[in-house]
Amino acid sequence: MSKVLVIGAGGVSSVCVHKMAMNADIFGEIHLASRTKSKCDAIAESVKERTGQEVATYEIDAEEVPAMVNLIRKIEPSLVVNLALPYQDLPIMDACLETGVDYLDTANYEPKDEAKFEYHWQWAYHDRFKEAGIMALLGSGFDPGVTSVFAMWLKKHKLKTIRQLDILDCNGGDHGQAFATNFNPEINIREVTAPARHWENGEFVETPAMGKRMVFDFEGVGARAAYMMYHEELESLSKFIPELERGRFWMTFGDEYIKHLTVLQNVGMTSIDPIKYKGQEIIPLQFLAAVLPKPESLGETTKGNTNIGVIATGEALDGSGEKTFYINNICSHEKAYEETGNQAVSYTTGVPAMVGSAMMLTGKWKGDGVFNMEQMDPDPFLDMLGEQGLPYQVKELDRPVDF
Ligand code: NDP
Repeated sequence: MSKVLVIGAGGVSSVCVHKMAMNADIFGEIHLASRTKSKCDAIAESVKERTGQEVATYEIDAEEVPAMVNLIRKIEPSLVVNLALPYQDLPIMDACLETGVDYLDTANYEPKDEAKFEYHWQWAYHDRFKEAGIMALLGSGFDPGVTSVFAMWLKKHKLKTIRQLDILDCNGGDHGQAFATNFNPEINIREVTAPARHWENGEFVETPAMGKRMVFDFEGVGARAAYMMYHEELESLSKFIPELERGRFWMTFGDEYIKHLTVLQNVGMTSIDPIKYKGQEIIPLQFLAAVLPKPESLGETTKGNTNIGVIATGEALDGSGEKTFYINNICSHEKAYEETGNQAVSYTTGVPAMVGSAMMLTGKWKGDGVFNMEQMDPDPFLDMLGEQGLPYQVKELDRPVDF
């Protein structure tokens, strides 16, 4: 039984902490710290009600490294699970280095003043983590996270090489609001308004945001329009699948979402450049995030499924020529809400965060240094993920994707 310290108390953290409490044989003691302690207390209360387990709560500004170091020294956890925002990745990694404790997150570091999703800041910690004899696991959510594990599962069991890979992320849920994001609005809007980038013949090719669209029939959802965009796992996948010729990421958006986002963008509300308002400096996107519905408030009303997966084409392992496989998970918003009080976007991130943590705490995934999901054995992770509510299905397609 291990002691774990979770940072952040949003939707993803709520799911992860509930699922940790449901696996008390691995997560013997759960400590939860965030900027707003009342949010930690609300999660602890729900966990107690649903599972009978106690969660200890604390207030912390995770960007204050000395305060983080003090908290880690006080609790002495085996692992720090960072479910705050990408801006806090580096200070939390610094605190883990100083205290010699393992680290896990679900999103790569992003500077506040630049919408740049890149791993190099965190990869630069590799040697220091290695020397300290500790492990960091990066991106243990769904995408990034499970999508990379899906790709590596195909590479282990079906394909000798992966020539072409498409990640398809469909949220078919309807929350009944005119415009809302299903996870942190600031991070979500920064992501979708950034230029699209995909991997092609050894380099990233940049194209305008939302410039490429296709329609795909998603099982459990129906036909939906998906747009090509940049997503951080393309960087690690292109590194760890060196033969990859083309890698792309697609996300579905409804017409209403696009319409609202276009207007907000046109009037400057999605900008991350500070402006002066009544003598005070504000960042338009942060102000917008403050007035939008809180993602955690959408759980109760969201109906429908998510369907996230990977389509990969390459040379079959059994020597039968080029083959194409589709591996995916379908998750119900209603079932996710019933189990943890959160909708499926938080669920599909929080469960893999718990499973990644379990892999580290049980020693099934281990190493000294900074690691991406692609570097680990996909089998024990996907086995546990299925048992914990997110099973996968895999099928062979009769041809490579034609979009
Ligand atoms: P939320 O905004 O709901 O929650 C973030 C939490 O972090 C809040 O409780 C917030 O505190 C806390 N926080 C923010 N700044 C600090 C700080 N300086 N110190 C301590 N706590 C802080 O986000 P989500 O739960 O939706 O997402 C959590 C993470 O998961 C994000 O990094 C997101 O990018 C990632 N994610 C990853 C996905 C994947 O598939 N890999 C998918 C979806 C999300 P407060 O309550 O005070 O604001």
